[in-house]
Amino acid sequence: SLILGIESSCDETAAALVTSGREILAHKLAGQESAHRPYGGVVPEIAARAHIEILPALIEQVLAEARLSLGDVDAIAATAGPGLVGGVMVGLVTAKGLALAADKPLVAVNHLEGHALSPMLSQPDLAFPYLLLLVSGGHCQLLFVEGVGRYRRLATTIDDAAGEAFDKTAKLLGLGFPGGPAVEQAARAGDPKAVPLPRPLLGSSDPHFSFAGLKSAVLRARDAGLYRPEDIAASFQQAAVDCLVDRTGRALAAAVGATALVVAGGVAANQAVRGALAQLAADHGLPFVAPPLWLCTDNAAMIAWAGALRFEAGMVDGLDAPARARWPLDPEAEKARGAGV
Ligand code: ATP
Ligand code: MG
Ligand code: FE
Repeated sequence: SLILGIESSCDETAAALVTSGREILAHKLAGQESAHRPYGGVVPEIAARAHIEILPALIEQVLAEARLSLGDVDAIAATAGPGLVGGVMVGLVTAKGLALAADKPLVAVNHLEGHALSPMLSQPDLAFPYLLLLVSGGHCQLLFVEGVGRYRRLATTIDDAAGEAFDKTAKLLGLGFPGGPAVEQAARAGDPKAVPLPRPLLGSSDPHFSFAGLKSAVLRARDAGLYRPEDIAASFQQAAVDCLVDRTGRALAAAVGATALVVAGGVAANQAVRGALAQLAADHGLPFVAPPLWLCTDNAAMIAWAGALRFEAGMVDGLDAPARARWPLDPEAEKARGAGV
């Protein structure tokens, strides 16, 4: 089947045409970095307005590039949450309008499921179940991925997400926005051993992540005035990597039957993160799978792909599908821990 995918949950507007046979016929992405840069972070109202302005043209462009029309697609998939709800609404309402006009089914995709299934798009050999480290701007979770729509959450962050820690570190060091790539870039010129920083929950029997203490330590290191920004960036990145690897290693011991260690989400674009996880997988005798960099950060190909898998499984949605600010992949685990964790 052929799916049109739409993504608008944060500050990238994106559209893509993807087949259930993993062919990416076209994909377009418009970032909004320059619009948000003056504020040092994503401003929800500016993001929603930009999605409205850009999305229709992107959809036309992917169809034109693939020499197809809306009548050729089998279903229309859009991110329905979680994310900035104004932006989510823009993409979802657009998808509903197109679905109604062209008489096509709608697939309301969880953005996190898009990230979670994205590694399969570039790696055809990847089979369920796999252990997934989902590390993005808003989330840091370990998920046992058993199938489409079947996710067991083994761990989550008790405070900040990993990407959020990268973004806040970049802001504290004046490295600019967006923060993750800026920290990685600065870290290349720094010494990861220069600044003593904590590794929250390292070695803990608790399965979860924590990054708030690390962020506060970065602030103190900066204010101490003793260290070069590149050394703080490199030391922060190393501490974050150590935490991710420690927690993931702990989960691997419990993830019996996993066919691979998989990483997805924006932070998965980080070379130090990828390298350390590849080593961890090798130590456990497991294949390591990471999507190409452009599929790690937000994009519509992953939404179209998740939409294709759901459509093939008969999981289509009504035109009353809601836009959701919060939407956990594993509601049971969310309930057990309480909201926010
Ligand atoms: P979520 O998916 O949780 O809703 P999001 O969609 O905003 O959040 P993504 O687009 O998946 O997040 O990822 C963006 C995050 O990834 C940002 O926090 C960004 O700083 C981080 N990131 C991107 N590239 C890198 C990198 N090279 N190194 C570290 N972090 C990175
Ligand atoms: Mg972004
Ligand atoms: Fe994302």
